[in-house]
Amino acid sequence: GAVIEFKNVDKYYGKYHALKNINLEIDEGEIVSIIGPSGSGKSTLIRTMNGLEKINSGQLIVTGYDLADKKTDINKIRKNVGMVFQHFNLYENHTVLENIMLAPRIVLKRPEAENKEIAMKLLKRVGLEEKANLLPKQLSGGQKQRVAIARSLAMKPKVILFDEPTSALDPEMIQDVLDVMKYIAQAGITMVVVTHEMGFAREVGSRLLFFDKGAILEDSHNPREFFAH
Ligand code: ADP
Ligand code: ADP
Repeated sequence: GAVIEFKNVDKYYGKYHALKNINLEIDEGEIVSIIGPSGSGKSTLIRTMNGLEKINSGQLIVTGYDLADKKTDINKIRKNVGMVFQHFNLYENHTVLENIMLAPRIVLKRPEAENKEIAMKLLKRVGLEEKANLLPKQLSGGQKQRVAIARSLAMKPKVILFDEPTSALDPEMIQDVLDVMKYIAQAGITMVVVTHEMGFAREVGSRLLFFDKGAILEDSHNPREFFAH
């Protein structure tokens, strides 16, 4: 079934109409790439999915929670929906390992030994187990982003939102991050990815949204075919 459902959603920044009558259903396990010109509303769209931006009208249901309902506890949605940002947003004063352990400890009250075991397993998966005790500033951009992805996975989310995860990286670091994203895609977690990486959109994505001027211009369930045209 649908894990994310937009019905006639509009979003304004003041008088600026940023999202125009969005209708969109994303099913469990879909890998959705969102492409389109800068300023077209891609980031706004995914930021509405975990309540970072409020919608002005319409209906938005995410993992069963109604985001238009003021009574909805946003923290319940954020347990289910992880987010990876362009600029990592790591806690700079905490080690790599602590960055991954913090939210599960506080939000999920995961027991310490289990929490550490899961965090180390995830660090290994993203190729950074030997960096566990370093601070973020001691890592490259690509390594920081892989920590951010491990941190998001530690919460065992149903959905992970990615907002231009490779756009701030030096070219030689992009592939390592894309490889980790490909692994997540194969693990069956629903992903919504704002990206300029057409290779990812074509090869890994199962669905492609082309966004323009606050609206979905194209919605393809066959990205390879879309790019062949
Ligand atoms: P994209 O991700 O496609 O580059 P954004 O969603 O970031 O587009 O932005 C869409 C439009 O909304 C842009 O014109 C941007 O300047 C505007 N915008 C984004 N965030 C805000 C904000 N917090 N306040 C006012 N305008 C905003
Ligand atoms: P990015 O490329 O990372 O999306 P932006 O410069 O587009 O960076 O946006 C950075 C932040 O500024 C975002 O939180 C966005 O919502 C906000 N923002 C973007 N455009 C505007 C705007 N016109 N007015 C106010 N805030 C904005």
